[in-house]
Amino acid sequence: MIDLHTHSTASDGTLSPEALVDLAAEKGLTAIALTDHDTVAGVAAALGRGALRRVQVIPGVELGVDWNGPGQMHILGYNLRYQDAQLQERLTWLRKQRRERAGKIVTKLNTLGVGVSFERVEKIAGGHSIGRPHVARALLETGSVATLSEAFALYLAPGKPAYVHKQELGDEEAIQLVKACGGAAVLAHPTTLKLDAEALCRSVERLKSYGLRGLEVFWSGHSPEQVDDYQRLAYRLGLLPTGGSDFHGDNKPGIELGTGRNNNVQVPDWFLSAIAQSCPAMSAHAAQNGGVIPNPSRESICH
Ligand code: AMP
Ligand code: ZN
Ligand code: FE
Ligand code: FE
Repeated sequence: MIDLHTHSTASDGTLSPEALVDLAAEKGLTAIALTDHDTVAGVAAALGRGALRRVQVIPGVELGVDWNGPGQMHILGYNLRYQDAQLQERLTWLRKQRRERAGKIVTKLNTLGVGVSFERVEKIAGGHSIGRPHVARALLETGSVATLSEAFALYLAPGKPAYVHKQELGDEEAIQLVKACGGAAVLAHPTTLKLDAEALCRSVERLKSYGLRGLEVFWSGHSPEQVDDYQRLAYRLGLLPTGGSDFHGDNKPGIELGTGRNNNVQVPDWFLSAIAQSCPAMSAHAAQNGGVIPNPSRESICH
């Protein structure tokens, strides 16, 4: 099995890239993609450790995007030339937005009478890609909240008093950026778009017209019904099915590398070989390997 969605200390995971690869080796995973938010700073270390531990490491990234819709859209980039100058320039800009936003969040918290310092948040983030989980951890340290999820529920989630919007790339821009670096762009956790089946289908078709290559079918937050729906949507639209746990170590308790939440993530090796090949290879692989094929007896959610 493999895991195509993981985070390290380069963004908001709690394991270093090396420790993440070690854990993958211990769990018997043959490959992982490192998909930190807005940074590829952990990729070189993960690749080096992967060579030692015989775990294939796929250079990756996860980009938050601004789009015209109700929920959150994240685009995963796989197999990209991670040292590409244009990519580095855009990621540096995105991390600058993150840093500025973290400062605004801290200011809002202080206005609310919740004491937390930007220096501490920055220290927790380790100087790479700052995110709300780092602010949440600082709040936990000062005893302002009892758990990380309480920090989101009380302060950091959209609509809560310390929420600050983050400047992001547009959806087309994000997909084109991944493409321009030779990577495959994949829509992460489609459920977070918060669209009904028909609207999701239209949105994914639009993303495909920009060059989207795949759809994240397996994810820790997807129900079995959603896995089934997204699998059929991917097949129907000629997109690659992908999947991963979205492992963040202690920053997302209950999510295990490779297996997700209560074993709800099971990503077969052939998903990865399909990414490396063209889309038609997906059905061939599925047929050959007894892999995931949509149940033809059920109506596709895409009309
Ligand atoms: P950011 O990149 O700063 O927007 O923060 C996104 C990160 O916060 C993701 O890794 C999410 O897993 C995490 N996150 C978002 N909402 C929650 C929540 N309600 N509880 C815990 N973590 C969350
Ligand atoms: Zn994260
Ligand atoms: Fe995400
Ligand atoms: Fe993620």
